[in-house]
Amino acid sequence: MLSKEAFASVIDTIENGKKLDGSVADEVAEKMREWADSKGATHFTHVFYPLTGFSAEKHDSFYDASGDGASAISKFTGATLIQGEPDASSFPNGGIRGTHEARGYTAWDPTSPAYLTENANGITLCIPTSFVSWTGESLDKKTPLLKSMAAVNKQAHRILSLFGHDEIAHISSSAGPEQEYFLVDKGFANARPDLVAGCRTLFGAAPPKGQEFDDHYFGVIPERVMSFMYDVDRELFKLGIPTKTRHNEVAPGQFEIAPTYESANVAADHQQLMMTVLKRVADQHGLLCILNEKPFAGLNGSGKHVNWSLGNRTQKNLMDPGETPHENAQFLVFCGAVIRAVDKYAPLLRSVVASAGNDHRLGANEAPPAIISIFLGDQLNDVMEQIKGGGATTSKSRGVLNIGVDSLPELPKDAGDRNRTSPFAFTGNRFEFRAVGSNQSISGPLVALNTILADSLDFIANKLEGAADLNAAIQTTLKDILDTHGRVIFNGDGYSEEWHAEAAERGLPNLKTTADALPAITSPEVVDLFERMDVLSETELRSRQEVYSEQYCAFINVEANLVTEMGRTMIFPAAAAYATQLAAAKAATGIGASTLEKVVSLTNELESSLDKLEAAHSAAGEEPMVWKDTVLPAMLEVRAAADALEALVPDNAWPLPTYQEMLFIK
Ligand code: ADP
Ligand code: MG
Repeated sequence: MLSKEAFASVIDTIENGKKLDGSVADEVAEKMREWADSKGATHFTHVFYPLTGFSAEKHDSFYDASGDGASAISKFTGATLIQGEPDASSFPNGGIRGTHEARGYTAWDPTSPAYLTENANGITLCIPTSFVSWTGESLDKKTPLLKSMAAVNKQAHRILSLFGHDEIAHISSSAGPEQEYFLVDKGFANARPDLVAGCRTLFGAAPPKGQEFDDHYFGVIPERVMSFMYDVDRELFKLGIPTKTRHNEVAPGQFEIAPTYESANVAADHQQLMMTVLKRVADQHGLLCILNEKPFAGLNGSGKHVNWSLGNRTQKNLMDPGETPHENAQFLVFCGAVIRAVDKYAPLLRSVVASAGNDHRLGANEAPPAIISIFLGDQLNDVMEQIKGGGATTSKSRGVLNIGVDSLPELPKDAGDRNRTSPFAFTGNRFEFRAVGSNQSISGPLVALNTILADSLDFIANKLEGAADLNAAIQTTLKDILDTHGRVIFNGDGYSEEWHAEAAERGLPNLKTTADALPAITSPEVVDLFERMDVLSETELRSRQEVYSEQYCAFINVEANLVTEMGRTMIFPAAAAYATQLAAAKAATGIGASTLEKVVSLTNELESSLDKLEAAHSAAGEEPMVWKDTVLPAMLEVRAAADALEALVPDNAWPLPTYQEMLFIK
């Protein structure tokens, strides 16, 4: 629909990261409106991604009253396309702005496609945007993602130039997120205040049968879930989201959906939309889609594996071992850069997957541990070992290995064994960051990955540029990297006790919870990293740390409220009523003495643990560490008493749907 000039200009921005030419905006806006109008849209919205991790939007109509007051005109100008000003005072900003200066601006991101959302009653044009403050600080998850992509593009160019490439196209980082989720019948979910509030189940005894038979994983998808999945796929296709795989996951009631990978920025926007669509379509099917990381105790939690790579149309996938020795040396440089990055900034990587929900999953012997390590697979690991060893030796399965660009053999195309226990795994032509939680925005992890890789590529380029003998310089640089950072490589069982001990010996950090991990965001190395790579300023990092700490406490606060309310108003009354009934039965017939004794003792425990929780809760304050050390354990005590009572109180008198009901009735 655009003129040739406008089209070329916009494409240049999208494909080559060129600054947007403001003069084409009017034309683009008008054509967008025409297109949206032809599909029946009446409204438009700038969609943005505040630090809450959710999507936000404020809608405006295309229509304005015309001068005569008798009719309306539909219009959409370049200025309105490019910039919006939602009242931003209620979004978390971590101290960047006082409410009196609450101005926040949304700015059109031409690199992420606009789309239409349909509702039974109307259609809206949605425009992905960045969200920044009056003073220019980013208040969102998109702005740093775009900047991190620019940083990695710049540094990757330097490396590719060293390998003699010219005419290098813009290099983009790519992401393919695998989304796990649970589905529960809404009839049950609505009777659970914890699930209605968007949390995990805070009570619930283990069902008689769990996931021990591995009969759900890749099993036949239940009929009702299949209908849901077809609808989800259809809705996502309409939005231009390329969904690819769908299957049953390990836990009963757990499923997964994954799209084909896209440019990281578009993938992140699409991921946000995908979460919205999953919830909306589930609702239409009488189901609740649960994205919480650990909705059911004792069963697998849900993650979001973020597959990540780097590439462009001229050099293709840079994390793909190449066909020729020349390409392989280049691949090893990128791979070495990742190894250095992940080891050097492990605490940062831990902090970007930190959330109250994900804490219950990481390290729970079904998800990767909180210790950040890299799995390379046998063959690539062997190659790295040889580089570390210095000279030329033999590769595991093939001939002679020399780092010299002339003599490197073909590298393994297949990563070899799968290792599900590693938080960060090489999977043949990309890395897979598995520690990300199912409810999280993937932007934070992608910002961190792109930026730490940019930093490592910068480090390597500094070593290689100007080297008299490139091959020799690559060999020494890689060896140095492996000597210093090789400790992060671990190909064994990440769940095992031995690994925890060995990781400690290797000096790898083990930041078990969000409270332990969040301080990393403003550590001197991290501030230096983000400022050097021009991705986030110290102020922006501080604001993020503050917002995430607040969110952590706020989340546990809601959970503690729920435990108290459900414990006092649902579970205690049920237990007390049963005790009374038992006492009467005992008086009348003499039966039930031992059951009565157990119920009374557990009900007393329930009551006293609720008192204890309330005391810890009201004293908690604002420190994440305090919530973790006092409120969370107190909640668990209440749960222990309640779950034990669930096994005694008559089924028809238990006030909450059970795990058995929620997970197996479909
Ligand atoms: P698995 O369960 O075996 O890990 P899936 O097929 O469920 O694999 O998901 C793999 C994901 O990795 C998909 O989203 C896929 O598009 C993505 N992917 C593949 N190649 C790349 C790449 N070069 N960059 C980023 N993501 C990729
Ligand atoms: Mg995977």
